[in-house]
Amino acid sequence: MNQSIVTCQKTININSPVMLWNTETGLTCPNRRGRSTCTQHNPILNNKPPELSSEYSILNLDKAYGELKKSVYQLIIHYDACYSSHHCHKIMTESSFKGSHFYLDLDGTIYQTCDLYWKTNTAPADDRNGNERAIHVEISNLSSEALKSESNWHKVPSDQYRKKKDRWELSLSDQWKKQLRTPDFRAYAARGYGKRGYFSRRINGKIIRMWDFTDQQYRALISLCFGLNKLLPKIRLRVPYDKKKNRTPLDRIYNYSTFEGILGHAHVQRGEVDGVSCKHDPGSAFNWPRLRKAFDRKTSIPDFFG
Ligand SMILES: [Zn+2]
Repeated sequence: MNQSIVTCQKTININSPVMLWNTETGLTCPNRRGRSTCTQHNPILNNKPPELSSEYSILNLDKAYGELKKSVYQLIIHYDACYSSHHCHKIMTESSFKGSHFYLDLDGTIYQTCDLYWKTNTAPADDRNGNERAIHVEISNLSSEALKSESNWHKVPSDQYRKKKDRWELSLSDQWKKQLRTPDFRAYAARGYGKRGYFSRRINGKIIRMWDFTDQQYRALISLCFGLNKLLPKIRLRVPYDKKKNRTPLDRIYNYSTFEGILGHAHVQRGEVDGVSCKHDPGSAFNWPRLRKAFDRKTSIPDFFG
């Protein structure tokens, strides 16, 4: 099983399963674009709809990697509002512009959908330049779509999490369950909130009610962050943090365009300009302190990345 992420023929082992787009069971980004900050491709790809895959060649891989290391400095975290990564990929494929470099499935499997040299249209950010500087990961979680009372898109007939002893389990239909890499995987929220299970916080002006991501997703995400930092060092191992309030803010931050590190979609996009929507992901349940603690501990864990 592959455990490496890749760009411009450079690979980094992240000690966590990764499905690559160019393998039999991989998922391919349907809507790649060229980054305007990079010069090793045909610039016609920067803003046009998808071209034939033969158009997407990288001329000089060493030069391309050098440019990428300079111009990419953010990992943006999203929830996909879907049942699983295969569900998310179906939605991306049905769109004429959407995509994401990585999907992170319920069982912790990471799908890398294209070389990181390319741009995916995942989050314009409030300055509309967000995709040029970023790598994106869509983590599977229904978010507020899991609640019957708030499900506007999937229109679920009942709440999609059930309490099993002390844990909350996502009810997954066979359609999506059988496409998970781990057979018979059961998706439990890593944490529950009180009796009701779901978390509830205001983010960029809207209350977001959602169950937590899985423990497998957090572990894989942390591995991905460490690996990306090795591959593209300007993506620093840090998240936004408010020292006065002692917590990671949830709303759009003031320095969102220059921050070097790991951010949520909501941190970069409040939707203050025409055509840019207000975002709330990765949402109220996302465990920012868990990421921050993992990064703080980094000096004490052995350097296991090859
Ligand atoms: Zn998003």
